[in-house]
Amino acid sequence: MVKICCIGAGYVGGPTMAIIAYKCPDIEVVVVDISLPRIAAWNSEQLPIYEPGLDGVVKQCRGKNLFFSTDVEKHVCEADIVFVSVNTPTKTRGLGAGKAADLTYWESAARMIADVSKSSKIVVEKSTVPVKTAEAIEKILTHNSKGIKFQILSNPEFLAEGTAIQDLLNPDRVLIGGRETPEGQEAIKALKDVYAHWVPEEQILTTNLWSAELSKLAANAFLAQRISSVNAMSALCEATGADVTQVAYAVGKDSRIGPKFLNASVGFGGSCFQKDILNLVYICECNGLPEVAEYWKQVIRINDYQKNRFVNRMVSSMFNTISNKKIAILGFAFKKDTGDTRETPAIDVCKGLLGDKARLSIYDPQVTEDQIQRDLSMKKFDWDHPLHLQPMSPTTVKQVAVVWDAYEATKDAHGLCILTEWDEFKTLDYKRIYDNMQKPAFVFDGRNVVNGDELRNIGFIVYSIGKPLDA
Ligand code: NAD
Repeated sequence: MVKICCIGAGYVGGPTMAIIAYKCPDIEVVVVDISLPRIAAWNSEQLPIYEPGLDGVVKQCRGKNLFFSTDVEKHVCEADIVFVSVNTPTKTRGLGAGKAADLTYWESAARMIADVSKSSKIVVEKSTVPVKTAEAIEKILTHNSKGIKFQILSNPEFLAEGTAIQDLLNPDRVLIGGRETPEGQEAIKALKDVYAHWVPEEQILTTNLWSAELSKLAANAFLAQRISSVNAMSALCEATGADVTQVAYAVGKDSRIGPKFLNASVGFGGSCFQKDILNLVYICECNGLPEVAEYWKQVIRINDYQKNRFVNRMVSSMFNTISNKKIAILGFAFKKDTGDTRETPAIDVCKGLLGDKARLSIYDPQVTEDQIQRDLSMKKFDWDHPLHLQPMSPTTVKQVAVVWDAYEATKDAHGLCILTEWDEFKTLDYKRIYDNMQKPAFVFDGRNVVNGDELRNIGFIVYSIGKPLDA
């Protein structure tokens, strides 16, 4: 029986390995992590991450061919294939601070693999890493391995949170990069054999290592760029009376462009887009390509601009003062169907409103009060000026109440602001909400989920991203 071990039981490692176990009953999969609470949660009824469909898959395989453990060294030692899916955040200090990927976790995983291995292994980069990382990993492994042979593959993950299980079951493509040597090609074949259990052969792409590593950064940069493009258009729509939904539909009908990922919003979030673009920027700068770096930086600048623009619109609509006004925040996760709040635009929007002394009542169906309070009290990292950390004052956090119902959040509020496109926000009883709010009652729809005209008929003053403004 082939044995797989995955280091890192996070948003990628957990679901990816669950699907491998589910689709490959002949393979034993052990997911290991240094975090005891995370592994305990994977072994419990309450999984550590919310992802539609994940519960069922885990419960079906756990204890059969899917295991979660903190005994990292033992399971790495026993594995034939070791996936590494540890976090690769942006460096916050030292050389490259604010842009470069922090590979501390990766390096310590690689050193541990070299240290505990007694047989040859395939080591798979599942984390998103800078192009050429495999070269560094190879050096660490070969210089520490006491003669054991390792083959490094790059197999970046393209799943999106919220649809991870569907993405893993029906991937657009699986990408495997390896060395062009016979050993490298043999390793590629071994990993291909795993995916071939359920992925059609023509969808498994093989490339050299550097193409695979760079493709992941490029894919995220292109996706984020589309969002920034449509968001930049949304500002122009508001200034001219055009409607961004109509513009995006017309543009997306062009088969060269396509309709996906053209929804205007308050901005993109999540742990990957900004981090990976910053990483790309750093790599361009290190390779003497400042103009290319500048091009990609603009994608993040537009994202920051969009969040600021949204807050400014809220404040100016509410007669330029929100001091002590209650504002209901519906949705805090960075997108629907996840509880993940990493880099969610809600953090910047809420901080902007708190900075102007608003009182916030926040509701999200999947995010806990602790998480929200933690996010709002954390220092803001300014990627353009990494030395300027802006702490939040503890008193500001007292302006925040986290409630468990949209109706409670909006009671007596002056404004209602939608920051995550949860389906339930489309079907709320907005008449009831209107009746219980202060008047005039404002709606600021950061995801264009509500029907503005219906809400106007109820009596709301509505601001939707990129739509003609109320008089
Ligand atoms: P995560 O923070 O949820 O999980 C990483 C896990 O690795 C943590 O549980 C941490 O405790 C563990 N870890 C760190 N060092 C370890 C070590 N030495 N030994 C054992 N465990 C260790 O991160 P994630 O969201 O799963 O992302 C992982 C990687 O995948 C990142 O590089 C990310 O950019 C990439 N990625 C993420 C997504 C996504 O949607 N989240 C999608 C594609 C790719």
